[in-house]
Amino acid sequence: MAGRAANILSPSLRLGVTGLSRAGKTVFISAFVHNLIHGGRLPMFEASKSGRIARAFLEEQPDDTVPRFQYEDHIAALLEARNWPESTRAISELRLTIEFESASAWGRLLSRGRLSVDIVDYPGEWLLDLPLLTKSFSQFSREALELSNLPVRTDLAGPWRALEAEADPDADADEMTARRLAESFADYLKACKLDERALSTLPPGRFLMPGDLEGSPALTVSPLLLKDDRSPRPGSLHAMMERRYEAYKTHVVKPFFREHIARLDRQIVLIDALQALNAGPWALADLERALSEILACFRIGRGGFFSDLFSHRIDRILVAATKADHLHHESHDRLQGIVKRLADRAVKRADFSGAEVDVLALAAIRATREGTVKQGREELPVIIGTPLEGETIGGETFDGKSETAVFPGDLPVGIDSMFQTTGDAASAENSIRFVRFRPPRLERGADGLTLSLPHIRLDRAMQFLLGDRLA
Ligand code: GDP
Repeated sequence: MAGRAANILSPSLRLGVTGLSRAGKTVFISAFVHNLIHGGRLPMFEASKSGRIARAFLEEQPDDTVPRFQYEDHIAALLEARNWPESTRAISELRLTIEFESASAWGRLLSRGRLSVDIVDYPGEWLLDLPLLTKSFSQFSREALELSNLPVRTDLAGPWRALEAEADPDADADEMTARRLAESFADYLKACKLDERALSTLPPGRFLMPGDLEGSPALTVSPLLLKDDRSPRPGSLHAMMERRYEAYKTHVVKPFFREHIARLDRQIVLIDALQALNAGPWALADLERALSEILACFRIGRGGFFSDLFSHRIDRILVAATKADHLHHESHDRLQGIVKRLADRAVKRADFSGAEVDVLALAAIRATREGTVKQGREELPVIIGTPLEGETIGGETFDGKSETAVFPGDLPVGIDSMFQTTGDAASAENSIRFVRFRPPRLERGADGLTLSLPHIRLDRAMQFLLGDRLA
């Protein structure tokens, strides 16, 4: 290692990796780094295809106070135990440095190129808090109550709504009442996420992913409506909640944006579109809303409220659906079509001030391979993998040890029907069932010698996110 000073001087790129919980951030970063360090098969990543990457290696990260992304632990889980690694619960960072030969003859005459990629992993739930900065406590409360009125949410929100209706905002501030309300509100948000409805839009994000703020007053908050037009009395429950909400914005949301998000150069937003497809149109609509809000955070229009928080601009944003290995390759473009549709409205609405936005369907780690099975005279496409222990297909429960062939989820050609939210929220007629597989064994890399993690289209993501910086 050439020492800290040299590290700081080498050109660097801050790459944000976000997505709602379980979208695949940890798996993406682990596979991204492993494939670069170990010479994976990356034919669509030009610098790798043309053999210009001399080496890629980990270095000390520039920010001493941000936890390090535990790459080695995650890789050990994936490769030694063949288990999926522990998911993202808070922000973390990892510096990967790439040494490369320039693509131009002129560039090659100069010294070897060097790029340090600072990968910043953070929960998408935290990003969804940015819009709160423009909202007063009353507005936040009104919107939270409106959202909880949607047919797909009413039953989950029931217990919290009952407590909220009962609470007297004008009563004296009382810690136990505040705690009961806040816990019930957080339970509702968690239920939305964990329930098979798989809903996505659930601010405040730290209620789901508290990081080190668990139990702090800034998180002991619940939306609370004033029951009449009177302004809140000092010392009342409402005044207490309002003050805590404002503290949450000032001491949690704002610094997070200023210190981390505002310094990003590029961003990948991962989404688990398959889980939403599994859960049906309501979950898709909800994911679309969450994605719009996430993308709006990167819309740094001139003079906009958020522009003060951003010191410079993100110039490329990639929206990627993960876990495409659950589908046959014929469906990969269709999945990409669904991501495009999910992102389109948000992208059209937003003024990205020149930022390039692209969409992709990928599997950071391909846990399956393709095959065919004979059924009568027909050869039918299947995917083959080791289902996770406890997964069931057609009544059969798997032990996590044996491989099996399954018919992949099949995406319909016309995607409009998948977005229809009319009808019964719970019936989810269009839903598709997917099985979860164990991580795969390593495969031979680009040189036929080294072993690397198999993937689908991870190289395209690399090309979009890094390609121009390695020219
Ligand atoms: P995070 O919360 O965004 O960090 O999510 P993770 O990266 O931990 O991923 C959550 C789960 O999704 C993992 O435990 C895997 O089961 C699954 N997963 C993520 N990426 C992939 C992928 O590329 N292929 C497959 N088959 N499963 C994946």
